[in-house]
Amino acid sequence: METNKTDNYEEMGNRFARCYQKHGGNSILVLLGFYKGQYHRFLISTFFFVIKHSPSLFTSLLIANVINGVLKGGEAGRRAILLNVGIWLFLLAIHLPANWVYSMYKNRVIRRTEAGLRGALVKKLQELSIPYHTEMQSGRLQSKIIRDVEAVETLSEQLFVNLMNISISLLITLSITAVKNRIILLFFVLVAPVASVTVIAFRSRIRGENRAFRREMEETSARVMEMVELVPVTRAHALEKTEIERIRVQLDETAEKGYRLDMIQSHFGAVSWCVFQMFQAFCLAFSGYMALRGMIQVGDITFYQNSFTQVVNQFTGVINLLPILTKGLESISSIGEVLGSDDVERNEGKQEIDRLEGNYSFKNVKFAYRDSEESVLDGINLDVKAGETIALVGESGSGKTTMLNLLIGFIAPLDGRLFIDGRDINDINLRSYRRFISVVPQTPILFTGTIRDNITYGMEHVTDEEVMKAVEAANLKSVIARLPKGLDTMIEEHGANLSGGQRQRISIARAIIRDPKVIILDEATSALDTISEKEIQDALDGLIKGRTTFIVAHRLSTVRDADRILVLDKGKIREEGSYRELMDLKGEFYEMERLQMALR
Ligand code: ADP
Repeated sequence: METNKTDNYEEMGNRFARCYQKHGGNSILVLLGFYKGQYHRFLISTFFFVIKHSPSLFTSLLIANVINGVLKGGEAGRRAILLNVGIWLFLLAIHLPANWVYSMYKNRVIRRTEAGLRGALVKKLQELSIPYHTEMQSGRLQSKIIRDVEAVETLSEQLFVNLMNISISLLITLSITAVKNRIILLFFVLVAPVASVTVIAFRSRIRGENRAFRREMEETSARVMEMVELVPVTRAHALEKTEIERIRVQLDETAEKGYRLDMIQSHFGAVSWCVFQMFQAFCLAFSGYMALRGMIQVGDITFYQNSFTQVVNQFTGVINLLPILTKGLESISSIGEVLGSDDVERNEGKQEIDRLEGNYSFKNVKFAYRDSEESVLDGINLDVKAGETIALVGESGSGKTTMLNLLIGFIAPLDGRLFIDGRDINDINLRSYRRFISVVPQTPILFTGTIRDNITYGMEHVTDEEVMKAVEAANLKSVIARLPKGLDTMIEEHGANLSGGQRQRISIARAIIRDPKVIILDEATSALDTISEKEIQDALDGLIKGRTTFIVAHRLSTVRDADRILVLDKGKIREEGSYRELMDLKGEFYEMERLQMALR
């Protein structure tokens, strides 16, 4: 069942992406293509919508029939009353079942598509490359999954159900009028060009104001998110007033843009209302005269008047669709940008790895980030044997993290080759490779759940003993023992209820329990007191033993214990050797160490 749903997400995401790539800028075609195969559901839904609404479509005709019948008097009048009221009651009787069928068809398609699109986006986010995620702000992605999907669904509903309903209602009203009187029909048809002229006169201004307002809203949400993240810094520097003022300026700007949009929309509404009302007055005069001259029956005046109201209402309906249409179409391209992105890791058909020794070989590896001329790694040559510990040191920006990202396979060499156990990293299925490695990031990433959940993240059938062993190796035993609920203690969002050192050790326990062959570790730079440092060092020692390890090292003890130290500088390996060797060399590393010792 679960897999089916995931397949469905994949199918839906692929369909959307295909339509987006095919039609690109034309969002309406993207939408039409996306719903292919579902049209019949919308058609059925519209059909029942028209039935459900038929009382309002036919009432004017029924009333006119009764008036005309009554004016004739006698038996004809009685018959007209009974017949027309009977039809009316019949139409009302089928309103409820028709409404039920209409809602069922429409809402099922809409809700399924909504969930499907969100699922497709979530699935895609799991596939998109790490550089893509680094560049894209999470706030924007969140807005796509929630806001844009909603806008697309509103658009679909309006487009497939409302617009079709409007067209059908118009067609019915105009057909009845055509049967009754062609001259009046001509008069009705005149409304279309007048409505179009009114829409055209306002359209570009409304669209412009709409866009301006939407951008301001996005900016506001981005600023507010940033503000919330910044609260501790703001508070620490007593800058609350400045922050509030900064947001106030933004809010004022948004309010101003919103006001302008409201005004233009309201003005547009009023102008079109007046134009339509004028027409309606003319229509009354026109049909009145026709009745006076005996060209139509008196009762038909109400029919034409009501029909005209219907026509006008339908046109107003189309006009009101305008903002929803504009917003929805923009959301389609916003979603398309993600679903259509090619920036994904491709593992299909690549060699699966079922065991890893942990030998690495860099052959003249080069790397540069997108949109950047500068080489971040510039011809790295390195051979690492299984079980070795390699410490990477160097100034900030020298390329250490980039090296780690290459080793995890988050990024691929631009030039040169990287071999893992003799196989080119480009040829292996990275997901199978990553089963054998553990990554400990600089900032521990914990989620809301128990300590046990965080340690065993994604692992099944882990016994308590195994967890406790990892806890012990990560030097967490005494911490857990002090907690009333032990391993079942809930970790709050981002681990707010734990100290920095404790968070790090949970992150280390998570790596240990996986019993990996290779450890990739970015040591935290944050200053820790000597006790915490010792505890973390012990935990690291437990982790590293017997495994190939790459560490971006900041602690002296880690550097000392490494088998080999690489000194990186501007993407090149400047020095390489054991601690003793590098100290004896009296080069860059020696200078760095001297400086650090002096600071201690
Ligand atoms: P280190 O870990 O040694 O501090 P990094 O490997 O993080 O260095 O960065 C090396 C260089 O690459 C820096 O100049 C940095 O500005 C640049 N860099 C890092 N990440 C990105 C990125 N996502 N896009 C563009 N440039 C980046």
